[in-house]
Amino acid sequence: MKTGYLIDMDGVIYRENNLIPGAAEFVQALLVNGVPFIFLTNNSAPTPEDLSVRLKHLGIQGLTSKHFYTSALNTADFLSETDPSCTVFVIGEGGILTALHERKIANDALHPSYVVVGEGASTMEKLTKAHECLERGARLLATNPDNWCPVSSEKTRPGAGATAAFLEASSGRRAYYLGKPNGYMFHRARRKLAELSLVTLEQVVMIGDTMETDIRGAFEAGMQSFLVLSGSTQLESIGDYVYQPTRVLQSVADLTAEVRTGKPSDRLDSPALGPKLNSFGRGGLRHQTDIFTLHKPRPRPAMTK
Ligand SMILES: [Mg+2]
Repeated sequence: MKTGYLIDMDGVIYRENNLIPGAAEFVQALLVNGVPFIFLTNNSAPTPEDLSVRLKHLGIQGLTSKHFYTSALNTADFLSETDPSCTVFVIGEGGILTALHERKIANDALHPSYVVVGEGASTMEKLTKAHECLERGARLLATNPDNWCPVSSEKTRPGAGATAAFLEASSGRRAYYLGKPNGYMFHRARRKLAELSLVTLEQVVMIGDTMETDIRGAFEAGMQSFLVLSGSTQLESIGDYVYQPTRVLQSVADLTAEVRTGKPSDRLDSPALGPKLNSFGRGGLRHQTDIFTLHKPRPRPAMTK
């Protein structure tokens, strides 16, 4: 059976500036064996070219921009498909600015059709400008729902979801969140993977470390999902979720032999996990996209006019 992979990056391939042990060998095995794959990331700050350079510096060779699909590309695809003549006011970095520019979507600080919120630092001045655009009727779009993003094992930074939440609170408008787990991200990534493959794929597997984005989105898009424990999810917290991964692995290194032989292992889960899988407990970790917070009604702004 021909399988293609959609692979999350942070927590799957690297953490901070360190490769996860075995990740380089896994990617080389995919390349050498002609297995179709795309890296799928909610980080809308870098361009695909930036990401391929980053992985090269980390020791993974042979990748080009076609191996990456970011939430920035997903946002640009969404706008060029649904509203190609729109204009945008963007809070974000190179990834989203370049993606929109490549699809000829114009910047507009006066009467944009959309305020687009991506990853990266903002300023009160930019947020105020975005707020004014929303008051003039612009719709609010975020490249991804992540409220926070890992910077190191002990440090996080605010994500695009938090910036969008700020504007939701100030304007009373709800944002539409692209990126994982939105089905549009998975649908477009699957299409890109099919274009990249020389044969028809019978199966697409999402590999990721985050339940709310990688595993939930794959489940809702009808794909298999492999959860790796090398990133943000602890084994004990998997049982907190109503959706479950198809398999649980220590890391992508568990898959390298399967990719080399082309034969799926009959083991459902990483052998190292053993009987612990049957004893899911309740974890106290906060969730990265905090779906419950997202669906909570936000306070309306004080109406002064
Ligand atoms: Mg991740």
